[in-house]
Amino acid sequence: MPKLNRSEWYDLTRDMNWNLTYVTDEQVWPEELSNSYGIPSEAWWTWDEPYKISYPEYVHNQSGKDESVYAVNAVIGRSNLFENLDPAWKAAIVSHYGAIAVPEYVAGIGEARMGRFGRAAAWRNMAMFGTLDETRHGQLQTYFPYTMLAKEPRLDWAHKAMHTNEWGAIAARHLFDDMFTANDAVSTAIQLTFTFETGFSNLQFLGMAADAMGVGDVDFSSLISSIQTDEARHAQQGEPTVKILIEQGKGDVAQKLVDHMFWRSWHIFALLTGAAMDYYTPLEHRKHSFGEFMNEFIIKQFMDQFRDFGLERPWYWDEHFLTELSWYHHATHLGVWFWRPTVWWNPAAGASPEEREWLEEKYPGWNDTFGKYWDVIGQNVRDGHPERTGPETFPMVCNMCQIPLCNPAGYMAGKLPSPEPLTLVWNGRPYQFCSAPCQWIFEQNPARFQGHLSLLDRFLGGVIQPPTIEGALAYMGLSPEEMGQDATNFEWARGAVLVG
Ligand code: MN
Ligand code: MN
Repeated sequence: MPKLNRSEWYDLTRDMNWNLTYVTDEQVWPEELSNSYGIPSEAWWTWDEPYKISYPEYVHNQSGKDESVYAVNAVIGRSNLFENLDPAWKAAIVSHYGAIAVPEYVAGIGEARMGRFGRAAAWRNMAMFGTLDETRHGQLQTYFPYTMLAKEPRLDWAHKAMHTNEWGAIAARHLFDDMFTANDAVSTAIQLTFTFETGFSNLQFLGMAADAMGVGDVDFSSLISSIQTDEARHAQQGEPTVKILIEQGKGDVAQKLVDHMFWRSWHIFALLTGAAMDYYTPLEHRKHSFGEFMNEFIIKQFMDQFRDFGLERPWYWDEHFLTELSWYHHATHLGVWFWRPTVWWNPAAGASPEEREWLEEKYPGWNDTFGKYWDVIGQNVRDGHPERTGPETFPMVCNMCQIPLCNPAGYMAGKLPSPEPLTLVWNGRPYQFCSAPCQWIFEQNPARFQGHLSLLDRFLGGVIQPPTIEGALAYMGLSPEEMGQDATNFEWARGAVLVG
């Protein structure tokens, strides 16, 4: 077999486009599955990814990665590493597996859609590698928790969560259906690979890998580092797609797709990663605060990229995004902790005196705002009334992000936005939104979103029976053994007595 240099055959094999004669473009790339935004085929053929790889190279690299990460897992599985992990850190990994494992597998559908309906051969080629990547991530992140089931039965939520109506699972499915399973190939490239993966995945996979290493969770750290190397490669399908849209005078299309998905990604990462970094990671091992990671990965790196392409910052940047950056994840964390029976992990409060000092340092003003809530909760615990620290009612849920409205009220008025939801009546049905950008996303395409019922819509509409807290918990798939409890059995609150 002649051994040619890679450069002599690579372009021929990766990028073979031709004009169709037996069928029309529309038959091969229906707009629903591959919105061309009116850009002609020949223009799509200029699609050129910055990262080049052949199939033999791909297989070689991937099998090497799998060998080493499964070897780490096999060794760790025989140790007592998991038992010795800080209970607060366990909240970070148990929540991660439920929220991420199956969605990774589902992301393979988005990649496969680009693999079939991408508008250039080079792109379809890259996306097929992406499909294999996401399959690997789904397998890894269901297998790793499986090996620890004997130690933490709720790790079966890695597989179970997305098959339930637990509220976080509904929020995640609503987002991921919007982003990849119910999206066309071109929009998927902009929203999944450019916005979500280039922008936000780094937060979860680089930031959390650093924290995991600090904690001594070698298993989790090696797992997510291994995944990140794939993400960094296949995320690069976004850039050439954005480039073509802009060159062809469709910058406004790219901008709108980014604005839409940037906001949605922000909310889900604030909910998941915000709590993991600022409340669940043991204090002595926190590398950076969530706010600092957001600054580094999103505000600096990702926005530099925006400017290079000639895109604008989303319209809601200053008024909504930068404002929420100072409070939103503190509020969702407080909500998750308070409504802890509704989640499958044991949330850590992260509100001991030392932790509060750290929060005040990283987020000046925290003590006067969120600290006030934790004062009351801590006092109730110390007074012997832990039952006063749990929910009796349900919160309003946003009809876009599906995350409960948690805009703080009371003495925080004036410092933070109004706790009142935004209401839009559309086709006779009222919809509630937590924020102006969530409402804006709905208004851009009501037909896409109008049929969905939030958890609260289902509660009020009689879908959830009996219409009680217990009925709703059962509807969410949570047995009493599975419902979240305070990760440290209120140790953080009792500690305050010793110090104060
Ligand atoms: Mn992945
Ligand atoms: Mn990915």
